[in-house]
Amino acid sequence: MFQSSYGKPYHNMGSDNHPRNSYMNLSLSTNLNNAPNMSAGITIKSPQEIVFMRKAGRVVAETISLITKSIEPGMKTRDLDILASKHIAQLGAEPSFKGYRGFPATICTSINEEIVHGIPGTKVIRDGDIVSIDVGAIIGGYHGDSAVTVGVGQISRQARDLISATRTALDKGIEMAQAGNRIGDISWAVEGYATPLGYGVVREYVGHGIGHALHEEPSIPNFGDPDKGPLLIPGMVIAIEPMLNIGGWKTRQLPDKWTVVTADGSLSAHFEHTVLISKEGPQVLTSVQ
Ligand code: MG
Ligand code: MG
Repeated sequence: MFQSSYGKPYHNMGSDNHPRNSYMNLSLSTNLNNAPNMSAGITIKSPQEIVFMRKAGRVVAETISLITKSIEPGMKTRDLDILASKHIAQLGAEPSFKGYRGFPATICTSINEEIVHGIPGTKVIRDGDIVSIDVGAIIGGYHGDSAVTVGVGQISRQARDLISATRTALDKGIEMAQAGNRIGDISWAVEGYATPLGYGVVREYVGHGIGHALHEEPSIPNFGDPDKGPLLIPGMVIAIEPMLNIGGWKTRQLPDKWTVVTADGSLSAHFEHTVLISKEGPQVLTSVQ
């Protein structure tokens, strides 16, 4: 996340475009059907670039793994940020988010009704909280971006179900990240899974292309129609990142100008992977194995 919207209402902390509008414009463009390779601003990575993207993805995956193993009640969110910061440096990488549009920390930590872009600080993590951890790292000039939501201690059944559904929604999106499909196929897979379960699918923050920049075209909404939007081509790398709320989809930004919360105060979860489109199918670059 952090994509298109770092600091902007449509977030994904990323691209300078309005993600939703840009997507809508593309999805309405019939020209796309005849010009599969043209979507403005979408980059196709060379094999050499993909080598670096795998490295960055690996750093992100290992950092997330370290944090999820370390998190426990009583820790401050800042403690997680320090862990991440040291680990990313040890692996020879740099954090993608620190300084991004002025973001002051290495990772984002978003607790309970916080959806994305929570700033690590003195807030204490309590038993029963759900915490979204979003990590980005850059190595050799290329970014990786991934997020998980974890339950701390004993969490409610509702919270467990939300986390599980959001993880599955990401899997559904990844399954559709096949060469020859379109972005809308991913969007629809996420929405079509989450909405019947009654979850609010966040619309104001979306996934994004990723590479030399943290947030590239295209935007990857978690809602939309199948067979619409830019065509997926081998060599594209995208961050797919569903954000699901127990309540409605609407969001609100806190006065810190970063933290995004559910408008109705309901719990929210977020999962994200950086995924390479290849002839052999989707390849998750931000996994540890
Ligand atoms: Mg992210
Ligand atoms: Mg992202």
